Amino acid sequence: MDFDYDLIVIGAGSGGVRAARMAATYGAKVAIVEEFRVGGTCVIRGCVPKKLYVYAARFRDQFDIAQSFGWHVDASFDWPTLVAAKEKEITRLEHAYASNLEKPGVEIIRDRAEVTGPNGVRLVRDGRELSAKYILVATGARPFVPDIPGAELGITSNEAFDLPRLPHSILIEGGGYIAVEFATIFAGLGVNTTIIYRGDCILRGFDEDMRRGLEAGLTERGVRIIYQTTIKSLAKTGDDVTATFSDGVSAPYGVVMFATGRRPNIDGLGLESAGVKLTEHGSVAVDEYSQTSVPSIYAVGDVTGRAQLTPVAIREGWYFAETVFNDNPLKVDHSLIPTAVFAEPEIGTVGLTEAEAATHGDVDVYVSRFRPMQNTLSDRTERMIMKLITEKDEGKVLGVHLLGPGAAEMIQLVGVAVSMGATKVDLDRTIALHPSAAEELVTFKSPSYSYRDCKRV
Ligand code: NDP
Repeated sequence: MDFDYDLIVIGAGSGGVRAARMAATYGAKVAIVEEFRVGGTCVIRGCVPKKLYVYAARFRDQFDIAQSFGWHVDASFDWPTLVAAKEKEITRLEHAYASNLEKPGVEIIRDRAEVTGPNGVRLVRDGRELSAKYILVATGARPFVPDIPGAELGITSNEAFDLPRLPHSILIEGGGYIAVEFATIFAGLGVNTTIIYRGDCILRGFDEDMRRGLEAGLTERGVRIIYQTTIKSLAKTGDDVTATFSDGVSAPYGVVMFATGRRPNIDGLGLESAGVKLTEHGSVAVDEYSQTSVPSIYAVGDVTGRAQLTPVAIREGWYFAETVFNDNPLKVDHSLIPTAVFAEPEIGTVGLTEAEAATHGDVDVYVSRFRPMQNTLSDRTERMIMKLITEKDEGKVLGVHLLGPGAAEMIQLVGVAVSMGATKVDLDRTIALHPSAAEELVTFKSPSYSYRDCKRV
C-alpha cells in the first residue's frame, strides 16, 4: 500500500524532532506537524528559558559574596531586558531546530494533527487527510491545574516567563522541580516568594538530605514554605489575587502560580478512537520499543509518562528511529537517569536514594558537609552536601546525591562512572583534583554510617 509519508511525527518537541531527523537521515520520507513553535516545551517554555532565568537569579548570591572579595556592587534588575533577551535566544534556537529538520528533508507542517486510524492523520486547520506507514505521537505534556474556584486567575510555568511585569509577591503551589526552580528564580529577582505544598517536605522522592538541604537553602534566601496546606480558591482583589488556603487563612499575592505536575497532551488527538490504549494515568501506553497497542503507531517523551525529562525523550525518539528505520532495535534503559534541580542551592542526583538503598541490602553511606570555598571569605554558613551510597565494604556505587554549586555538572560526569558499575574502590583509585568540591567523591575514607539488615548502624 502506498502512503503519503513513511513517518508522520505529531509534535516538534525534543523527542519528535530527534525521531524525525534520525528517520529522515535513514532515508525515510518524514513530515512533522506542530501547532505551536518548533522546539517544544524544553526550548520554548521549559528547560532553556528556565535555566537562563536561574542564571539571572543567581547574580543575587554572587553580588552578596562579591563584597567579601573586595568588590563594591550597586546592582539593579530590569525584568523586560531579561524577557527580551530570553525571547531572542529561544527564537534563535527555534530557527536552529527548524533548519536541522529541513536539512535532512523533513517537511514541517504548521497545523494541529488528529489521528484518524492506524495510518491516517487529519490536519485540523487545513482539513487535509494524510497517510503514513508509521505515526509517532510526541505531543508532550501540559501543566495540570487543580479544579478550584478561581483557578483561571492563577498562572503556570507557561505564562511565568513572559509576565508583563515582575510581581511584588508570588505564591507557588507544589513541591516538585518546577515549584522550587521558580521559587529560586523569583526570590533571586527580588520577589517576595511563598511555596505552598500539600506534603511535609519539598521534592518528594528525592534523597532526604537533599530535600532538607534545599529547604534550608530556599528559606535562607527568603522563600517562605507553607506545608500540609493547599489552595482552596482564588479571587481577584484589585491588582492582586487573594488565595484562600485549606486551613481557612486568606492572603493577597501579586501572582499565584500552579506547579502541580504535568499531564500528557492527548486531548483531541483521536488516539482512543484509533485504538491506541492509554495507561491508568492517562499516558499513551507503550512497550520497550515505544510501540503502542496499534503496531503502526509509536509514542515517545512526556506523553508516555515514563520519565518527564528532555534527554529521555530525545533518547526515546532516537531509539524509535533506529528500531523502525535502521533495522537496529534498541530499548531505552530508564534506570540510572542523572537529574538536576536547578534551584539555589542546586541538586544533582543519580541512582538510589538512601531510603531506597537501605531496603536493597547492606549498604555504606558516605556524607560530607562543608562550606563551598567561594563562600569562605564571606559570613555565609551554607553547607554543600556530598553523599555517596555504596554496597557494603567498598562495593558498587548505588547512588550519588549532591547539593551545592556545580552539582548538576558534577552529577552528569559521575553518572558515567555509576552507569559503568563503578565501585568505591574505583573512585578511590582516581586521583583527586584539588581544590574542588568534586574531589570529595574520591577522597571519602570510611563510611559515615551503614545499613545492615535494613537497620542503620
Ligand atoms: P512534579 O510532579 O515534580 O511536582 C508536582 C507537585 O505538585 C508535587 O509536589 C505534588 O505533590 C503537587 N501536586 C500535584 N497535584 C496536586 C494537587 N492537586 N494539589 C496540590 N498539589 C499537587 O511536577 P512539576 O510540575 O514540578 O514538574 C513536572 C515534571 O517536569 C517533573 O516531574 C520533571 O520530570 C520535569 N521537570 C524537570 C526539570 C529538571 O530536570 N530540572 C525541571 C522542571 C520540570 P506530591 O509530592 O504530594 O505528589
